[in-house]
Amino acid sequence: MTVFPTDKFATKAIHAGAHTDVHGSVIEPISLSTTFKQHAPAQPVGAYEYSRSQNPNRKNLEDAVAALENAKFGLAFSSGSATTAVILQSLPQGAHAVSIGDVYGGTHRYFTKVAQAHGVETDFTNDLVRDLPKLVKSNTKLVWIESPTNPTLKVTDIQQVNDIVRKINPEILLVVDNTFLSPYLSNPLDFGADVVVHSATKYINGHSDVVLGVLATNNEELYTKLQFLQNAIGAIPSPFDSWLAHRGLKTLHLRVRQASISAGKIAQFLNDSEFVESVNYPGLKTHPNYDVVQKQHREALGGGMISFRIKGGAEAASKFSSATRLFTLAESLGGIESLLEVPAVMTHGGIPKEQREASGVYDNLVRLSVGIEDADDLLDDIKQAMQKVSN
Ligand SMILES: *Cc1c(COP(=O)(O)O)cnc(C)c1O
Repeated sequence: MTVFPTDKFATKAIHAGAHTDVHGSVIEPISLSTTFKQHAPAQPVGAYEYSRSQNPNRKNLEDAVAALENAKFGLAFSSGSATTAVILQSLPQGAHAVSIGDVYGGTHRYFTKVAQAHGVETDFTNDLVRDLPKLVKSNTKLVWIESPTNPTLKVTDIQQVNDIVRKINPEILLVVDNTFLSPYLSNPLDFGADVVVHSATKYINGHSDVVLGVLATNNEELYTKLQFLQNAIGAIPSPFDSWLAHRGLKTLHLRVRQASISAGKIAQFLNDSEFVESVNYPGLKTHPNYDVVQKQHREALGGGMISFRIKGGAEAASKFSSATRLFTLAESLGGIESLLEVPAVMTHGGIPKEQREASGVYDNLVRLSVGIEDADDLLDDIKQAMQKVSN
């Protein structure tokens, strides 16, 4: 497998993993066959034998994701959660892991309720740079970063974590969940991470119609190990979902760029609003980690996700999120359409109040996933909803 021969994102997005078939189809057909002919026993006609092990559409998607993440190897799974599961499954019995504190809920659940059953123990901290030297033990095998975090959008300096980890033990696996930024805004492998993972359900597919996960790495030995588990566990995406996600990926740069620009305008408005207590947005110069954003994100863009605390408590948050016309009240993120939610009672409802508030998820926190509608229309929608709450 080779790295795609250009470093320009837009060209890679369109051409990596895009092949023509025997008819010269510009867009590769969906290959539904579960099995592939062999000339003689153990001599397949082409590159494929059985569709769980590998399939043309999945391979195309994996190659495209690898190209966008500046990686040699990509693997696709049936969901972001299955991707996480396979990585954690690769840890030996009795391994120790350190993870960022406000990690995606499903990742936290896997660490504490599933991996624990295989003897994996995990420590969580909201500040890896500060706490890693204290937390790493002789059996630590994995450090897990999510940046920015959900929903408070804290940013971690991957390079700095990498420097700390390598000094203690170069063998420790550094994994970054890059779902919120997408490969367009940041490439964690360039900052020293061993593996980058995505819930492709979000920005990579980008149209809220596929659940899928991907990972990318430059480490061949690790890739072979994870590929073995991918096949053994069988949590693979269908050819159709792979094809859809690959189609979505081709416009990733346009979508994420527009979402970031619109989100920047909305975040600025919220920041200036008398009805808002505070705004979390990595693209604001006032973000506590803006120095890291400047070196870790393309053009210091903040991405499409914003969260803010509205004045008036839970009631105001509920009223606001029911009053928007373009922003749909729904969980998930990263699609072409704008969504909003109240994490305390929706995505993060299962976390005890004290623990939730310790990581900044208060009852009056509203999370926006900014889509690619007209930016002024989106801003007007926020303004009219704010007006309804304040009346
Ligand atoms: C959604 C999400 C996941 C889980 O992905 P699924 O595709 O829903 O399984 C993991 N990490 C982050 C940051 C997410 O937003």
